[in-house]
Amino acid sequence: MRQDKPRCAWAKGPLMQAYHDTEWGVPARDDGRLYEMLLLEAFQAGLSWHVILSKRENFRRAFDGFDPHKIAAYDEAKIARLLGDAGIVRCRRKIEAAVVNARCFLEIQRQFGSFANYLYSFAGDEPQPSGDEVRTTSPLSDAISLDLKRRGMRYMGSVTVYSYLQAVGVVNDHEPGCFLHRDGTGQAGG
Ligand SMILES: [Zn+2]
Repeated sequence: MRQDKPRCAWAKGPLMQAYHDTEWGVPARDDGRLYEMLLLEAFQAGLSWHVILSKRENFRRAFDGFDPHKIAAYDEAKIARLLGDAGIVRCRRKIEAAVVNARCFLEIQRQFGSFANYLYSFAGDEPQPSGDEVRTTSPLSDAISLDLKRRGMRYMGSVTVYSYLQAVGVVNDHEPGCFLHRDGTGQAGG
């Protein structure tokens, strides 16, 4: 990893830098990745993203490789085991939300053919341009949040959805000056 590149201010430390450089804001159309990020973002509420990233492989192990079919079928015994797993975020409401959200995710896949189709039915096919102001929500995240909640998803407020849209590249919010800012054309600064 290049240490000398100018990056978004939040990308501090090796874990966050690697995530920033290789994943954050990269347009994702693969339902496996879209689901993984949805689950992780829902667990992030009230915590730092660094905490979630540092536990990510523990989440992957504990949640059956982020397989929504398996997670949708979790019973109380499995939830109790997850609550005893110190490697993840042990919050009953969030774990129960993961199970409910997996069921909603599968239902959306059934209705739209893929979760990507659903997501881009709101967003259009191109990454949304964003202004220079720092945002935590947008009309797009408001609309998707409302629809996800209507479908029964939990921990999907507009701030969480906006963070998700940034992560999976529906919006590109690399800061001006970051080497991945859209005007930077991927070149190192200077
Ligand atoms: Zn950046």
